Amino acid sequence: MIAFHQKTADRGNIIDGAGYAAALRERLAVHVANLKAAHGLTPCLVVVIVGEDPASQVYVKSKGEMTLAIGMESRTIRLPDTTSEEELLRLIDELNRDNDVNGILVQLPLPKHMSSLKVIDAINPDKDVDGFHVSNAGKLAVGLDGIVPCTPLGSLMLLKDAAKAHGDTLAGKNAVIVGRSNIVGKPMAQLLLAEDCTVTIAHSKTRDLAEVCRAADILVAAVGRPRFIAGDWVKDGAYVIDVGINRIEVATPDGPKGKLVGDVDFDGAKVHALAITPVPKGVGPMTIACLLNNTIKAFCLQNHFPIPDGV
Ligand code: NDP
Repeated sequence: MIAFHQKTADRGNIIDGAGYAAALRERLAVHVANLKAAHGLTPCLVVVIVGEDPASQVYVKSKGEMTLAIGMESRTIRLPDTTSEEELLRLIDELNRDNDVNGILVQLPLPKHMSSLKVIDAINPDKDVDGFHVSNAGKLAVGLDGIVPCTPLGSLMLLKDAAKAHGDTLAGKNAVIVGRSNIVGKPMAQLLLAEDCTVTIAHSKTRDLAEVCRAADILVAAVGRPRFIAGDWVKDGAYVIDVGINRIEVATPDGPKGKLVGDVDFDGAKVHALAITPVPKGVGPMTIACLLNNTIKAFCLQNHFPIPDGV
């Protein structure tokens, strides 16, 4: 068993999410250029942000820059947090009816006086590039082709790639997902079920979580608690996908500094895992790349163009 740990660790078992995402964005840029050349049209993504949440501002800026970088059109609409829900719903209605807009993303979380369910429900499902609308969630649940939420989609791409690198497939594996949110845990479970995994979804009421995790051939952490999954909860030879993004403070000689860590104790887990995503540079970059992927898909569906290979 120890020899196996050393072998996998020495082989470099860290999944390069940033590298995979960069390669995906390059492929998407080619699709955008081809669509432009063939039809004279460019996919357009509109991101709406309400309020001043600093983390959301960073994500939105990055989404806009990456959209432009692959040759698509990007619009960012910034609204003050005094915006009423009704005003936001009116804006979404306008964007739904604007034929030049192919993708609409409303950055979450929304201010407390708004219902995110109601707002997401107002987005035309064909333009719902986050894949959060109940229609897209339903399609995923019954196995129809719809728009799949970006973070689970990106996580699945990384998992499949890691399995392929080991001459392996996902079918038949025990997959444990810790977290049952509508945006990560539940869609991740549906995707892994569709890959013929045997899926367990764990959450805050799960009994003996450590033992549940130890049974996982594939462990996906989407909890929102820094280093919550201990290294010895990870089965030898497991694939570990850490979705968590947590900002913690660490002491440095220059005083306390902010640091991003995942939901998994990376150093403890990586000696057991066959492959593991780091934080940062793991799942995070895949989320935006998949948003671009979904926008191209939405654009093609709306215009009745064939969907490019791999999108
Ligand atoms: P939510 O807060 O919506 O869900 C967290 C889930 O974790 C819940 O289902 C909750 O259970 C479960 N949970 C909380 N505490 C425990 C516990 N002690 N034991 C077991 N389960 C627990 O979070 P999200 O799904 O939105 O996000 C999860 C993490 O992923 C966050 O760190 C977030 O920042 C990150 N994230 C990263 C993205 C990326 O691009 N990489 C994108 C989206 C999210 P219960 O339902 O019972 O309350």
